[in-house]
Amino acid sequence: MSTNQALFERAQRVIPGGVNSPVRAFRAVGGTPRFITRAQGAYLWDAEEKRYTDYIGSWGPMILGHGHPAVLDAVQRAAAEGLSFGAPTEREIELAEAILAQVPSMEQLRLVSSGTEAGMSALRLARGATGRSKIVKFEGCYHGHADALLVKAGSGLATFGHPTSAGVPPEVAQHTIVLPYNDVAALEAAFDAHSRQLACVMIEPIAGNMNFVRAGVPFMKRLRELCSRDGTLLVFDEVMTGFRVALGGAQAVYRGLIPGFQPDMSVFGKVIGGGMPLAAFGGKKDVMSQLAPLGPVYQAGTLSGNPVATACGLATLREIARPDFFEALAQRTRALVQGLSAAAREADVPFCGDSEGGMFGFFFARALPQDYGAVMATDKERFNRFFHAMLDRGVYLAPALYEAGFVSAAHTEADIDATVASAREAFA
Ligand SMILES: *Cc1c(COP(=O)(O)O)cnc(C)c1O
Repeated sequence: MSTNQALFERAQRVIPGGVNSPVRAFRAVGGTPRFITRAQGAYLWDAEEKRYTDYIGSWGPMILGHGHPAVLDAVQRAAAEGLSFGAPTEREIELAEAILAQVPSMEQLRLVSSGTEAGMSALRLARGATGRSKIVKFEGCYHGHADALLVKAGSGLATFGHPTSAGVPPEVAQHTIVLPYNDVAALEAAFDAHSRQLACVMIEPIAGNMNFVRAGVPFMKRLRELCSRDGTLLVFDEVMTGFRVALGGAQAVYRGLIPGFQPDMSVFGKVIGGGMPLAAFGGKKDVMSQLAPLGPVYQAGTLSGNPVATACGLATLREIARPDFFEALAQRTRALVQGLSAAAREADVPFCGDSEGGMFGFFFARALPQDYGAVMATDKERFNRFFHAMLDRGVYLAPALYEAGFVSAAHTEADIDATVASAREAFA
């Protein structure tokens, strides 16, 4: 049996940092990443056969838990029929129909293979459709690692303290305006300064790459008004929140708070692929028809709409569309956050948390942060100690305080209770 440490050393010889995505490396919290050998339901097992209750869920996609029988069956059948055709299939239509049925702001979508690709394509389309270059994004929001969006992003970058990435030419980044999240005055100033020059505003409506921060309702309302006034496309990055915080995504949550609310374009990933590489971007027909082969905006992909990935996504969406699915998931997620908060209170540890649907966040702070600066000001040292105390007790939380957490349908009340009991020991 290889140990996690032996595997990590071997990995570092052939893969930079030993990982294929930076935050997996545990650099923020220190220690050795766990090399996972298998997963079932709410649990992961590492190379040393230690079991963990999984609150990462592959960073969001595994909303049904691992190894759901209907999903595995769909994937196995699809694989037997062919891994990739590079030609259209009926299943792509079915998946597009299933997504569009839950997202009334979109009339059409295109399937791609990753959230990064979807965000990058949405951005190009927004620029092509408006004939404008400038874009707005918010500090602490992550939209994948396309050059123009890798400007003061959160997630792994925040972890490593890089304000931006090397290798992004200033000429590319200069069209990206970065504003503080939830700051109405800064938003108004940016729209005034760049009147009718902004192609789009891209936002995580509930930000999950600076832990868990909601866009306030007055902020979202004003954002919608300014975009409509100036002909700027409002792009919701729902790669994390889509089919996760509610069946209709974060936009359904905001539609409940702001009557008639709709973004102009949306980006999805993670849950819609159910654990396979699949993502999508979409909007109204007039914008989407600017894409090749109909229009002048080029976008393509060898594996886009892959038959196995679409089967996995479809099976996942079918399961989560069952009545009461989200109510039950939200209830368990709330129970987790309330349990952790109560345990922290008993130990007199400053702590607060929030959740929506099956997505949650918590902070070692007295009040919920409203922007990236406030997230950065929470107690990182305490978070790191808590992370390791929980990991030792078999609870797998995101290895950085800038990440949201996820509960799946496979997590039982007993799992939540056991996690809260572990947290009680950790806080003490
Ligand atoms: C994960 C994520 C992305 C990037 O998706 P990948 O599939 O990792 O490329 C983009 N935006 C948000 C909000 C995300 O959470």
